[in-house]
Amino acid sequence: MHKGTRLEVNLKALAHNFHYLKSKLAPETLFMAVVKANAYGHGSIPIAQKLQELGADYFATAYVDEATELRDHGIVTPILVLHAQQHMLPICIDRCLEPVIYSVEMLDAFIAFAKAKKQQSYPIHLEFNTGLNRIGIDPKDLEKVIKKVQENPSVKVRGLQSHLAASEDLSEDSFTQNQIDSFIEIKRKLKTALTYDFITHESNTSGILNYPSAHFNMVRSGIGLYGYGNDLKFDKELQPVATLKSVISQTRWIEAGDSVSYNRQFIAKNRMRYAVIALGHGDGINRIYGHGNAVVYINGTAVPTLGIICMDMFMVDVTHIECEAGDEVIIFDPLHNARDFAEHAGTISYELLTGIQKRVPRIYIN
Ligand SMILES: *Cc1c(COP(=O)(O)O)cnc(C)c1O
Repeated sequence: MHKGTRLEVNLKALAHNFHYLKSKLAPETLFMAVVKANAYGHGSIPIAQKLQELGADYFATAYVDEATELRDHGIVTPILVLHAQQHMLPICIDRCLEPVIYSVEMLDAFIAFAKAKKQQSYPIHLEFNTGLNRIGIDPKDLEKVIKKVQENPSVKVRGLQSHLAASEDLSEDSFTQNQIDSFIEIKRKLKTALTYDFITHESNTSGILNYPSAHFNMVRSGIGLYGYGNDLKFDKELQPVATLKSVISQTRWIEAGDSVSYNRQFIAKNRMRYAVIALGHGDGINRIYGHGNAVVYINGTAVPTLGIICMDMFMVDVTHIECEAGDEVIIFDPLHNARDFAEHAGTISYELLTGIQKRVPRIYIN
């Protein structure tokens, strides 16, 4: 049994979340599992292997290297690369990866590569910007794009994509409805121009949960698979997949006026006892969690951080609890979850989870 710092990854919870999210979809709607950023910190290979076994229809990564790593480990499911860089496009073709084309220049470049590699109907996904103002083709370039696709049999549109800016924020409902409507209009024009069908996808996890009208025939889910629904009512139905545990390395009593950690930013008001936890910003527990902005659980009791988070350790106040070196520490688990931990310090579960570094061993529980 592993005793030190570790991220326990519960694959049963992953399966539960997959089935829950699928239950929100029409039976014929395809499910794309987003496993970018090391599957949001959970370990992309074991997560993708499990999701492939569960029947995910597609995977998505952000970059080409993330996708080739999956191919190297037995993932044969189609993979969409959301944010491929132009110089990596030839590798998409070599490794059977479907690129998201997000500009006219990128379409030209990809067509040139596909031609050079003597491809016929190589599948691409066209992403249009409908209001997020991140990557995406400008809708006013639709006619130009259609012409290029029609004139170049080396590529074929497999998918049409856009991304919602505020699917988790119902106070932005009219903005989201506008995004959905402009996407439907792009889809209608593209469908009229092309003689074949393609997949249409616009929803992330919150789109799945809040906007059935934006499911189209595929959805792209990341955070929901890992157990978070950006809303307490959905969080109740989902199961956090990751539990972060560590261990007490040492405890010490100090006197009033003594300081704890770098730059003496915490000064003891009274005689007190601290414990050192074997985890720091080098593991992904960023400095924002210092100064009491986070609590961890030792023997069932919440204890706050003290002073600055160091690279390999941080200190907590254990004046009022029984504990000793070697005791287990819960940073987050299904009960005291990553969303609460992150939001208490002013960030989100996505950032906390994706930030858990490589040196934290992942332990898979099936
Ligand atoms: C990351 C990402 C997703 C997944 O979003 P979640 O909120 O984690 O479900 C979907 N689509 C695109 C384009 C993304 O970049």
